[in-house]
Amino acid sequence: MARIFCVANQKGGVGKTTTCVNLAAALAQAGQRTLLIDLDPQGNATMGSGVDKRAVTKSVYHVLVGLATLGEARVASPSGGYDVLPANRDLAGAEVELVGLERRENRLRDALKNFGADYDLVLIDCPPSLSMLTLNGLCAAHGVIIPMQCEYFALEGLSDLVNTIKKVHSNLNRELGITGLLRVMFDARMTLQQQVSAQLESHFGDKVFRAIVPRNVRLAEAPSHGMPGIVFDKAAKGTQAYMAFAQEMIERVKAL
Ligand code: ATP
Ligand code: MG
Repeated sequence: MARIFCVANQKGGVGKTTTCVNLAAALAQAGQRTLLIDLDPQGNATMGSGVDKRAVTKSVYHVLVGLATLGEARVASPSGGYDVLPANRDLAGAEVELVGLERRENRLRDALKNFGADYDLVLIDCPPSLSMLTLNGLCAAHGVIIPMQCEYFALEGLSDLVNTIKKVHSNLNRELGITGLLRVMFDARMTLQQQVSAQLESHFGDKVFRAIVPRNVRLAEAPSHGMPGIVFDKAAKGTQAYMAFAQEMIERVKAL
């Protein structure tokens, strides 16, 4: 059965989508059957996987409100080797609609139920908020991957997220835990980043992934080509980091 991971951080622009797309592609290259769920109305994970969000007729929105099944809405990423449950602006209205539906926090979990045998890993790209959409992601997942930049304010935001995860664990999803923290956009020349990185290690111990993703312009360029960075430039430093991260994830899943 699939192991399901939410990639979440309520801070915007911290590398959630970049992590999802590149991890999905690296897992696929390692032979893992992978599904990437885009849970953000911005549709960045959809576009970054080479799927045109404007041409999508059935999306994660339709799945959440019960107008389509996952089987009807998923598409193959032409560049990534994994499946995508796409998102676009349709999803922006879902928040309000979900409030009136039964099992509103569990809509995604319920939608995945019949498809667990199709995948080894499922990744969920969350929007930058602790909204009903993110809550659906957290209720569907076994673990949370938290990408973060090693900056001063990063630690402050982290406690809100950790508290939310604890609350979801106690009240809605006993299976949920923090899988790990991933340091991204890392610049080893900056003393502050090294300090925050060391603080993270001392505070979170082996919850901090060994792999560190450097700031790498090739990763930022790849989405405009509709490709994960690891496919766009195989030799890039960012590619090597995400490949190492995928191996670490595979190890952690095996150890579960
Ligand atoms: P949002 O909160 O809006 O969903 P996000 O957390 O998903 O954002 P991304 O979209 O992945 O963040 O990244 C934000 C920006 O930083 C993008 O322009 C992306 O290309 C760039 N970026 C992400 N990771 C790296 C990296 N390691 N090196 C350089 N640029 C990066
Ligand atoms: Mg994003």
